[in-house]
Amino acid sequence: MDLNRYMEQNAQEATALLRTLCAIPAPSHHEEKRAAFCKAWLEAHGAEGVFIDEALNAVYPYHATGEGPLVLFMAHTDTVFPDLTPMTLTERDGKMLCPGVGDDTANVALLLLMAAYVAQAQPETDCGIVFAFNACEEGLGNLKGSRALAARYGARLREVVSFDGGMEEICGAAVGSLRYRVTVRTVGGHSFSAFGNPNAIERLSAVIQKLYAYPLPQNGSHTTFNVGQITGGTSVNTIAQQAEMLYEFRSDDRESLLDARRYFEDVLEAFRADGLDIEAELLGERPCGSRENGDPRQAALLERCKDAVERHTGLKPEIVAMSTDCNIPFSLGIPAATVGLCRGGGAHTREEWIEIESLQAGLRIAASLISAHFA
Ligand SMILES: [Zn+2]
Repeated sequence: MDLNRYMEQNAQEATALLRTLCAIPAPSHHEEKRAAFCKAWLEAHGAEGVFIDEALNAVYPYHATGEGPLVLFMAHTDTVFPDLTPMTLTERDGKMLCPGVGDDTANVALLLLMAAYVAQAQPETDCGIVFAFNACEEGLGNLKGSRALAARYGARLREVVSFDGGMEEICGAAVGSLRYRVTVRTVGGHSFSAFGNPNAIERLSAVIQKLYAYPLPQNGSHTTFNVGQITGGTSVNTIAQQAEMLYEFRSDDRESLLDARRYFEDVLEAFRADGLDIEAELLGERPCGSRENGDPRQAALLERCKDAVERHTGLKPEIVAMSTDCNIPFSLGIPAATVGLCRGGGAHTREEWIEIESLQAGLRIAASLISAHFA
């Protein structure tokens, strides 16, 4: 079957499939229903060997038996919305509106169509191709799906492309992050009669002052830190016994993130040595790669992605660093890119929308990147 004919015949199917998928709720860690749908849909379209792994990824390996090299194409099924009942979908003025429609449901629909093409046309390939409809890309998912895929296929992975978000940007490097909950406890007491006892809020403030004195790495990396939330205390006339904060570091460079972590740990250790009861719980860790990635395979992959987007949309996508499923391959030194297959806006809001027409170009972008591996 000719790929161009397939795309023409399935122009309407892309929209219909997207409507169906949008109606299946999939908060991070609860992607069961979407995973089951993807598996059943692929099997109904001729795919063999589809399975759902322990991370709730629906996986279709094609020509992937043995130990040979693989390319992985993925799109995440989870959305940022906690809803367990179907969300409202509306269509008007050539737009489809639904929470999660562009991030990442449209990309899932188009990758499903391409996986079905491969299942039916059975093309020869120059390596194995793994199609994954993966779980847990969004915030609290902590990239669980992507980690499970990297663990399963490991060193066999030659290249990873994640279809995610919009067409205007291509993610060619990872923004890594470290997130902590920091808790300080003191004996506290009555604000008047026990005055002079250490106050947990005051102590935590001192810790924050010290953390904000962090000398940022001067290596050209983009490294940031933030205290995002603070809670604690009992009442206006109580010396606070407990205070807590959420703190994060981000960086586009592995060494810088390690440096930030060292500084953070040293600051806490210094307060501890001073007798303070302080503990840090690691809430999230998204690894990243090195800023100076001189791998020519990485540059070649980005070139191929840029070409595909330009050719089918006329857009000149910008190469940026972001936090996506590709953080995992980047951290392992595997060439990777995140490419969007639709145009729209309002990601992570209930007003999220896409231009229905853009799905046609999106399907062509996916097709050109996947068919690059046909022999
Ligand atoms: Zn996404």
